[in-house]
Amino acid sequence: MRTRHLLIPVEGVPADLLRGSFYEMRGSSAHKATDILAPRNTPVRAVEDGTIAKLFFSRFGGNTIYQTDPTGQYVYYYAHLEKYQPTLKEGDRVKRGQTIGFVGTSGNAPPNTPHLHFSISVLTKQKKWWQARALDPYEVFKSDKAKSQ
Ligand SMILES: [Zn+2]
Repeated sequence: MRTRHLLIPVEGVPADLLRGSFYEMRGSSAHKATDILAPRNTPVRAVEDGTIAKLFFSRFGGNTIYQTDPTGQYVYYYAHLEKYQPTLKEGDRVKRGQTIGFVGTSGNAPPNTPHLHFSISVLTKQKKWWQARALDPYEVFKSDKAKSQ
């Protein structure tokens, strides 16, 4: 995963401003994601090429996007979006760096703390999402392969 040159998914945020929060507890379960703080409506961009698997509104995540990588092996999850990029739809192929949504506070994000909640999951061979294992995005981004441009 560290050889993939993932893009930081929020425009204008350099890798050294990221903070690891993978193991912090959120309620009764571990966070297993990275929160990237940014002003409301900052563009959120695809970390690499792939396909929009699902656009989904959930009580906790708010407006969320599930994107698979080109191999279908990884799922990238973007949550608390203010809104989607208006023409985005399920099944769309996206390019690394393409704007897919905008930072916000939808779902259970604090109203005064707009941020992107981002996670990476590894799918099993059977491609069962509910059995996916979470990777720490912070570890991926902070490696010298991560790029902010
Ligand atoms: Zn979060």
